[in-house]
Amino acid sequence: MNNKIIYLDNNATTKIDEKVLESMLPYMKEEYANPSSMYDFSKKSSNAIKEARGVIKDFVNAADEKEIIFTSCGTESANTAIRGVLNYNKNKKHIITTKVEHPCVLNVYKHLEKQGYKVDYIGVNSNGELDLEQLEQAITPDTALVSVMWANNETGVLNPIEKVSQIIKSKNKEAKLFVDAVQVAGKIPIDVQANGIDLLGISGHKFHAPKGVGALYINSKTMITPLIIGGHQERGKRAGTENVPYIVGLAKAAELAQDSLEFEATEIKRLRDKLESNILKTIYNARLNTGVANRVPNTTNIGFEYIEGELILLHLSDIGICASSGSACTSGSLEPSHVLRAMNVPFTAIHGSIRWSLSRFTTEDEIDYVIEKLPSIIEKVTSISPYQKELEQLKALHSK
Ligand code: PLP
Repeated sequence: MNNKIIYLDNNATTKIDEKVLESMLPYMKEEYANPSSMYDFSKKSSNAIKEARGVIKDFVNAADEKEIIFTSCGTESANTAIRGVLNYNKNKKHIITTKVEHPCVLNVYKHLEKQGYKVDYIGVNSNGELDLEQLEQAITPDTALVSVMWANNETGVLNPIEKVSQIIKSKNKEAKLFVDAVQVAGKIPIDVQANGIDLLGISGHKFHAPKGVGALYINSKTMITPLIIGGHQERGKRAGTENVPYIVGLAKAAELAQDSLEFEATEIKRLRDKLESNILKTIYNARLNTGVANRVPNTTNIGFEYIEGELILLHLSDIGICASSGSACTSGSLEPSHVLRAMNVPFTAIHGSIRWSLSRFTTEDEIDYVIEKLPSIIEKVTSISPYQKELEQLKALHSK
């Protein structure tokens, strides 16, 4: 397996599916017309966008394709949703989110806090599960918006969105719910209607479309003030000439993802569980950071106690294995992950926590290779830890 990349960082980004690339190429070469132009040559581009909108409508089970707008990424979808709702409704000044959101939500909330909004950040328990009681208590008649991610990017833990929506609406019918669904798209079915969602964001590069394209669902009863102002594109909700090839690619990726949901729920989950159970069985200082929490099928977050995650990643990288010690947006900083901190992961494990995230392109051979190579890497890193006494105690406990 030397020189081969074993890519287990699919929550950071995914490789483009060949079929997605093929679907995009005609719109990069021959069909380059501006979809807003009047001549016949532009019909193929404008029809391609119309078709793609229908596909994304079905992908999230929206009632109407008018409820879908295309964006450049998950971050833009979140910004458009959050700032769009609040700018439309300037009277209400209370907003709620969770402590474990992606920075594209959390940092918008921090920015809004400085602008005078009152913000409640809802906590999670030690498995990463949302405190629904705290959420219920936080909602007031002044609450304009609640943002809850569907699955966490670092742990894969799923939030019970239908229940979250019921709690919000039972206390304040007018409060809007934005769901960052970036880490569930292509992993579990999305149904905005069944789950009572007002706005929902997805990002193509997390499910085998290219980077630089996303979508936002805004239900017909929810008004926003647009973030990007200009031409009339996307019904005035997101100006700028549409990125036709990428929109086509996003739709193709959504179709392929929809078709492989069953595979995700069975085969990817089987491989994830195989990796996870082998690590926990063979490596005495490994702990599953999410306990029994309900998770997306492709992710596991494992803490290796008393050692440095960065060092583990370097050794893995030497043999072509890509994993991550936090979200891609925070790795590179030595700050422990805000998600694991919110979960109160013990300080002994927080710095040595590794996220493994699989995709439909992950093979059993790759998982077997990681299972074979990881124990000696952990042993090497463990041997230089200053916590040898504590490690001996852990070892004794594990062998019992
Ligand atoms: N939300 C979550 C949960 C994510 O994991 C990410 C990316 O890591 C984003 C939003 C941002 O998406 P994008 O990279 O498309 O801006």
